[in-house]
Amino acid sequence: MIITKENCSVYPIKVPAKHGLKTFNFYLREDNGSLSLIDAGVNTAECWDVFMNTMAETGFALHDLDRIILTHNHEDHIGLVNRILSVKEVPVYAHTEAIHRLKRDKDFFALRVEFFRKLYQEMGCGAAGEKQVEKLKAAVKKNEKDKIKSEIISLAESDTIVGLQVIETPGHSPDHLVFLDAERRQLFGGDHLIGHISSNAIVEPDQEGKRILTLVEYIRSLEKCIGLDLETIFSGHGSFIHNHRQLIHHRLEKIQQKSERLLELIDSGMSTAAQLAQVYYRDKYETQFSLVMSEIIGQLDWLETKKKIGKEQKDGVWHYYVTVFE
Ligand SMILES: [Zn+2]
Repeated sequence: MIITKENCSVYPIKVPAKHGLKTFNFYLREDNGSLSLIDAGVNTAECWDVFMNTMAETGFALHDLDRIILTHNHEDHIGLVNRILSVKEVPVYAHTEAIHRLKRDKDFFALRVEFFRKLYQEMGCGAAGEKQVEKLKAAVKKNEKDKIKSEIISLAESDTIVGLQVIETPGHSPDHLVFLDAERRQLFGGDHLIGHISSNAIVEPDQEGKRILTLVEYIRSLEKCIGLDLETIFSGHGSFIHNHRQLIHHRLEKIQQKSERLLELIDSGMSTAAQLAQVYYRDKYETQFSLVMSEIIGQLDWLETKKKIGKEQKDGVWHYYVTVFE
């Protein structure tokens, strides 16, 4: 498939994905003879083959590639970067918050493990939290080899790259960027907005190890995109989005509904994040622990920001209580 508009062509690369994501999407974009890859899929043989086939079908070779631009650091968006770089060295662009993650900075990842150890403890997660921290430690070792080999050039709000306006949209990840082609009303959206599923606002520390209020940031980033004049969002998974305003309103509504339900649970006497997660998500507390805790902690942050709840620490664990309840 090619989407051509006024001297600019977008060639979507879609690789089948499991677990409800439908597809991993990334994009070749040719603007006046300059070729960019926006995101880089997963690190699998299948993904590489689909990428190479798209290249061949469109008449390009890897040597024609001028740059790689990343929406965020998650492994299903950066998978082929090193493999591409081993054939052709091109600059890689990403948000500043992505660089220490993509470079697998040892100090940062040690600090990140410590961040989650303390967080899960304070949220009352007990053994389930300790198990997750062990998993994180093992992943740090395993992921060392995936460090991005080239220099990474940092992008920030209002930068422009090959005619694309850079917009910071933290929430799903702290380094998340979307790229706007205002002239053609196209947005390369990464995981900021996905048509068929809601994006998780995943809890993460910032570079100094301080907790980011991820859901609060995500809501702000969604609101920031409502006003954009768009025809198409090329998103990171599933179908393209043509009704972004409606979809954003729908996502915001769902967040609101969830927060009301949680407020009721807190009012009924459940006070720790771990208790809320076990009641709200049941089996998923064990099977999808980190995502579930992100959801609950994000919601608690948001309710706290709106002054609907307060918290106090007892024996090192945060207990939440309702301050305003209508
Ligand atoms: Zn992601």
